[in-house]
Amino acid sequence: MKIAENAVVVIDYTLTDNEGEVIDSSEGAGPLAYLHGMGNIITGLETALLGKEAGDEVKASIEPANAYGERHEDMKQDVPKELFGGIDKIEVGMQFQSETDDGPVMVTVVAIGDEMITVDGNHPLAGVHLNFDVTIREVREASEEELEHGHVHGEGGHQH
Ligand code: ZN
Repeated sequence: MKIAENAVVVIDYTLTDNEGEVIDSSEGAGPLAYLHGMGNIITGLETALLGKEAGDEVKASIEPANAYGERHEDMKQDVPKELFGGIDKIEVGMQFQSETDDGPVMVTVVAIGDEMITVDGNHPLAGVHLNFDVTIREVREASEEELEHGHVHGEGGHQH
């Protein structure tokens, strides 16, 4: 069966940036199972996998616009340290949920000053060109329950 809307797809993948640095990989973690067309994975990768079938190997080079978006420098801001009151030790790379007018946003600590902490609301992969190396292991029909939930159940998917 070919990958189409509402197919369950099981893949092995390695994700690298343009410098060849590995960002993420299913190696060790086990294959990833996703429901095609539901936004479970980035749109650029869905587009690249459409119409492929089990056994196919796919290389996809994806622009930030079809992945985690462009970086917006105005999403960086300095926050007074006392707002992080309850936290013992703030370190660069820590992530916090921040309430904004547009709803909750995940921010990452990028710099720590004497009084201010700089947080970045960009997704850590915003502005990054993504290169996927994918091997398709399995393509199958989704069950009614999986379609209802909008995700895959079982190995590589949701365990519940
Ligand atoms: Zn479910």
